[in-house]
Amino acid sequence: MSNDLNPLELEILRRISVAGPMPVSEYMALCLTEPEHGYYMTRDPIGARGDFITAPEVSQMFGELIGIWMAATWRLMGSPENVRLIELGPGRGTLMRDALRAANVMKGFVDAIVLHLVEINPILQTQQEKTLERVPVPVYWHQTLNDVPKGPAIIVANEFFDALPVDQAVKTANGWRERRVTVDSAGNFAYTIARDSILHFDNVLPSAVREAPEESIFEWRSDIPAIDLGRRVMDDGGAALVIDYGHAQSAVGDTFQAVGKHAYANPLAAPGNFDLTAHVDFEALARAVEAMGAKAHGPIDQATLLRRLGIETRAARLKANTPSERAIDAALIRLIGEGPHGMGHLFKAMAVAHPNLEKPPAFDK
Ligand code: SAH
Repeated sequence: MSNDLNPLELEILRRISVAGPMPVSEYMALCLTEPEHGYYMTRDPIGARGDFITAPEVSQMFGELIGIWMAATWRLMGSPENVRLIELGPGRGTLMRDALRAANVMKGFVDAIVLHLVEINPILQTQQEKTLERVPVPVYWHQTLNDVPKGPAIIVANEFFDALPVDQAVKTANGWRERRVTVDSAGNFAYTIARDSILHFDNVLPSAVREAPEESIFEWRSDIPAIDLGRRVMDDGGAALVIDYGHAQSAVGDTFQAVGKHAYANPLAAPGNFDLTAHVDFEALARAVEAMGAKAHGPIDQATLLRRLGIETRAARLKANTPSERAIDAALIRLIGEGPHGMGHLFKAMAVAHPNLEKPPAFDK
């Protein structure tokens, strides 16, 4: 490690010297959300000039189709006169701007909306204020979902859950042990394996991965954010749409990764300077929301979601009205393509709904 350590490196070093090797989730939480130096507290990481690009930034079609989903969900809820539209981690505000424009086609829906954005990044909040300056609905910001006032809600979370802290366990000859972050003899952050077994791990480890071979890695997150989501749709009847990269069934694999300037990096290098993420385990998410009485639908591929919401028709209409047909084709390939550069198969969508809402739009097949 070089002599000029950044403040986050110093903080992590200090904690490890006091308390010993650090859980991966603690390392990830510090890197992303430490109030002064965390990655998400200090910058706008999204877009061509940032570190990564997201579906709403690829094309207006993404947000517009989510807007259609929200409007159809509102109808299914019985068109309540007041509805909280909640977005978790709204990024640059692009998805909501495009969604509200498209949702305008459903009479009454936009009039019923109060928009609540859950965002911890002050720089992105400023960007959201700018992007959403002209939307015809009141907008409020909150630090957590639990701060949003109660009432019927439609919730959207695109690329939010992957940013929440993850823990890792390694299968050893003696069973599963926690993987932790320590400092090696050269002074660099490195992984180590804890000696003791993990408390209550039987409750966390799905039966499907119990017999995994030695050296397999299993990742899990705190259930609390998913429980809060499930409770929320149960409280007043409503639904959530969660879109993220991940796997439909719990599985082993190391997906903890760092991305900066559109390239992969070592997650243990340069804390606070890279985006850290891990795949979302949709099976675990479903289990948590269902424990609260909500019903999980899907997951389905992002390609399936967007096709069912009509992306091909939308693309054709846009192409008829623009000189840059090729840009629309490229966006379409990015959003629903199933190859290595496409998001169509890698990204999944899950709806979480009050059981009275039998079939959320696009999840009814
Ligand atoms: N949904 C957006 C942005 C995805 S990036 C898009 O698709 O473009 C992740 C977003 O979640 C950012 O807005 C980030 O600031 C926010 N975020 C990350 N961790 C958070 C947390 N713990 N609480 C609230 N927001 C968080």
